[in-house]
Amino acid sequence: MAFTSWPLIINEFPPTFVDKITAIITRYNKSWLKLHKSASPELLFLPCPGLNIKHPTTCLKTLQVSKHIILSKSSDSRTRYIAAKNLAKATAARDKRWKPELEAVKLEKEILWEEKYYKGKHIVSSAKRNTTSFSNSSPRSQRRSITQRLKHYDVEERRNRLRALCRGGNVLTWDSIMEHDVSWKELMYDIPEQVLSFRLNGTAMTLPSLSNLRRWGIKRWGTCPLCGKPNVTMAHVLSKCIVALRHKRYIWRHDNVLATIANDLYGMANRSNRQNTTKRPPTKPSFVTAGTNHKTKSKNTSLLTRIPCTDWQVNIDFDSSLTIPVSTGVDTILRPDVVLYSDHDKQIIWGELTVPLERNILDAHIRKKCPLCRAESKLKNGWLDSSCFYLGDR
Ligand SMILES: [Zn+2]
Repeated sequence: MAFTSWPLIINEFPPTFVDKITAIITRYNKSWLKLHKSASPELLFLPCPGLNIKHPTTCLKTLQVSKHIILSKSSDSRTRYIAAKNLAKATAARDKRWKPELEAVKLEKEILWEEKYYKGKHIVSSAKRNTTSFSNSSPRSQRRSITQRLKHYDVEERRNRLRALCRGGNVLTWDSIMEHDVSWKELMYDIPEQVLSFRLNGTAMTLPSLSNLRRWGIKRWGTCPLCGKPNVTMAHVLSKCIVALRHKRYIWRHDNVLATIANDLYGMANRSNRQNTTKRPPTKPSFVTAGTNHKTKSKNTSLLTRIPCTDWQVNIDFDSSLTIPVSTGVDTILRPDVVLYSDHDKQIIWGELTVPLERNILDAHIRKKCPLCRAESKLKNGWLDSSCFYLGDR
């Protein structure tokens, strides 16, 4: 979009003009990412579940509004006169087409109204918000606030459009999972092409599941080859097929995920033991002169490092042996998937791995948490439960 910025800001194109460009961009992006053609294009342009690609319509609106603000606040009186004339012409127009002059005035009024009646607490959130009020900030900051609000409204409108879709909007109901880390650079450099395509199609519900193949006219009956149930969905394939459950296919998937994270857990425990052994004593607070900002360095330390144990051990439920150590005094047949414990400091951390569908993560969390809470109440001999954790993945 960087190459098209100049023509978009100079010429007064209507937003419908860039719809044709958007259609071409969407077609090429879907082809490149191997995203099915029936997937909603909003996933490409939305920031959180999508790829956050710049939408041409948003770019055009932002540039046109910026142009009007620059002209209307110019130091040259003739330029200001032209901007005022354009605004008067837009106000007098009877058609309902989008006009940057009216949009800029409306957004500015909104911000000023919020500043007056909400005491500076802007309704529209912004990561880089200025502490100074809108009316006292520089023209450049004011322009940035207005364009940020415009972008926010465009994103919300696109999100609502996606939410209205029965299948494509399903991704917006996955509110109990961690945020997607699908920023554009990570997708470009960190994920293999096939995995990226699978992930995007999984998010858009356009994977070639049996129900989708039937919907697309490729198969006549979407019958499950294992249990014979007709017209099965992806939820059936991933977690509901009774034959796959009896064949232990879901257990195989669960154990593979567990084996993948096990190596990392062993490494984390060893690293924490080393760091806790060689940890330096706390130093005296340094003197901070008046008028200077004292910035503390925040480090992302793991839970194992924050608890100063030097003998962390890891038990993983691979071979159906007890994972809770006998020294805790817990008389139970429960076998949490992951147990990290320290015999010396009598600390224990346990975790359960669940592999549910995204919409069932909350239910799975409650189902798994209750037995562990009962086991926690049985801890004896001075043992303390530091934390529980749960993992879930499709
Ligand atoms: Zn089945």
